Amino acid sequence: MLSQSAPVAPHRYPDADVRGRTAALEGIVPEHAPKLWMPRRVLITPSARAWPLAATVAERAAALGAEIHELRSDRLGTLRGESERDTYVRSKTTLAVVVSPPSQRTLQPIPPSADWQFHLARACPAHCQYCYLAGSLPGPPVTRLYANLPEILDGLRGYVGRGTVTSLSVDRKDEGTTFEASCYTDPLAIEHLSGALAETIAFFGHWDDAVQLRWTTKFDAVAPFVELDHRRRTRVRFSVNARPITQRFEGGTAALNDRVSALGTLARAGYPVGLTIAPIMPLADWRTHYDDLLALVEEQTRDIEPIDLSVELITHRFTPGSKDVLLGWYPATKLEMDEAARTLKRTKFGSTKYVYRKDVMRELRTFFEERITARLPRARILYWT
Ligand code: SF4
Repeated sequence: MLSQSAPVAPHRYPDADVRGRTAALEGIVPEHAPKLWMPRRVLITPSARAWPLAATVAERAAALGAEIHELRSDRLGTLRGESERDTYVRSKTTLAVVVSPPSQRTLQPIPPSADWQFHLARACPAHCQYCYLAGSLPGPPVTRLYANLPEILDGLRGYVGRGTVTSLSVDRKDEGTTFEASCYTDPLAIEHLSGALAETIAFFGHWDDAVQLRWTTKFDAVAPFVELDHRRRTRVRFSVNARPITQRFEGGTAALNDRVSALGTLARAGYPVGLTIAPIMPLADWRTHYDDLLALVEEQTRDIEPIDLSVELITHRFTPGSKDVLLGWYPATKLEMDEAARTLKRTKFGSTKYVYRKDVMRELRTFFEERITARLPRARILYWT
């Protein structure tokens, strides 16, 4: 087992969510106010308390004014409210510090992103009306942070050289064995409370092998990573979209300009970076809005030399299950989920999802490939889906 390294020093992040409470925090970033989530309550299980990370989270969250509840059993108790909406609100304002179950530590491939997925947390405090997790994670959407980080990281070692996704790709072999940390969460959303991501970046930096940590985010509090010894073994992708989509559908996340600015900050610090443009939607005037997005990235990265910039392109899709959950969470959403306007696609696991029609997909794809080549000639498109 790894020993728990020294806790990451707390940073100061003045922000709308914590305005009025910043005197309780110590640190940096005076000129910029990154987006931070402020839980109302933190639940800590007895098993989690055995790991130093639980104390770190309790200390930081208490300094921000959260209620800290030390539970008597490893069950979280019910977070269900009187309505779907109550349950949602209660869950999204709660952080549970738990231990990841052994089943989560047996890694699975995650095509087309990475050889393996692993989990630092489960669920996310943001409010995206198309959330990818809707329908795939059972129960109320409470964010669970895993306290047994050393155990999780130590478990990755046995997977080196065994990749079946990027390692077998002619174009992506150079990335080494890839490990994706954002399948079930946005890990940066809770980093100011845990420091777990900084520790994971440092772990990969010191892991002298052909490996790559990958994670994607809609947040922007990246200042603590600038000085880390990452050795270019972490690729951070910023999930971005046409501005009307980020403004209408991505509640609780960092503003688009701030995400792109954070990408520039990390690229200047030598990190491989990326754009996850998702979920792509052919909204009104989509060509203009998506070209504006690419222009913004062009402007922010133009002077960065060298830059290792990747692009992942993911179109919007939904399943019958995810639509049901999303309509429970966001009953007034204007998100288009019209089965009649879509094509039904069967996955190899027998489930179904609704994707855009072939002609729409072709038009979108052609546009993105052309405009990315024109605006970001140094970028590498990893996949389209
Ligand atoms: S940031 Fe990602 S995981 Fe979090 S609510 Fe939005 S889509 Fe869901």
